[in-house]
Amino acid sequence: MNMVLLGPPGAGKGTQAARLVENFGIPQISTGEMLRAAVRESTPMGLRAKAFMDSGALVTDEVVVGIVRERLQLEDCSNGFILDGFPRTLPQADSLTGVLVGLGRKLDVVVSLQVDTDSLVERLTGRRTCRDCSLGFHIRFDPPAVANVCNSCGGELVQREDDKEDTIRNRMEVYHMQTAPLEDYYRKNGLLKTVDGMASIDSVQGQILDILQAI
Ligand code: ADP
Ligand code: ADP
Ligand code: ZN
Repeated sequence: MNMVLLGPPGAGKGTQAARLVENFGIPQISTGEMLRAAVRESTPMGLRAKAFMDSGALVTDEVVVGIVRERLQLEDCSNGFILDGFPRTLPQADSLTGVLVGLGRKLDVVVSLQVDTDSLVERLTGRRTCRDCSLGFHIRFDPPAVANVCNSCGGELVQREDDKEDTIRNRMEVYHMQTAPLEDYYRKNGLLKTVDGMASIDSVQGQILDILQAI
């Protein structure tokens, strides 16, 4: 199962990807997560990416395509993968096709999560992320059992630097300009499936599982 989760910031890509990992045992490939790890470790790539990420802009295609190309070659992707947050531009989508062709593989499905803008802002401002394992929670919609403590690893929950209102507005703008056209791109090549992302987390998961069952 080679899939892409598409959707604006806060749509629920990371939340659903984490559940699919549990269901299918295939890895979640989150470019945002990999970039944040590089920033934390102050690698040369992380140092370059930080300013883009802090302002809500996209990191250059070349950098993210490089990350994904390397990641897809690892053994754990051989039975499938869930791309979360990549591709985000048309050139990235073309590059992904090329990388997969090179590996003798192709995408099976692109699942697009549809959520209205007001809800996205509410989701992002209330999002809390585990400092240690990166699992996501929401102060109202998906609260941890103990306030500010990760259910999975006991780590501290923190608010991402880019989940502040100003940066969120930029990220929405960037999404509409650069990423939204991917819906048409994948609709035209027959891979796009849309899901009502406004539904509860469980219901969205059910919709995705139904789609995967059917293909
Ligand atoms: P993305 O990876 O697309 O940016 P996340 O999966 O991190 O989005 O979700 C953003 C926030 O919204 C998180 O705090 C998450 O707990 C919450 N969330 C995710 N899916 C839903 C849903 N279906 N209903 C309500 N809140 C949700
Ligand atoms: P969200 O799911 O909330 O939008 P991500 O964790 O996917 O956030 O991404 C955080 C930031 O990392 C983005 O705002 C962008 O700066 C950078 N980033 C992640 N994925 C990509 C990508 N495919 N192309 C360019 N930049 C990316
Ligand atoms: Zn954790």
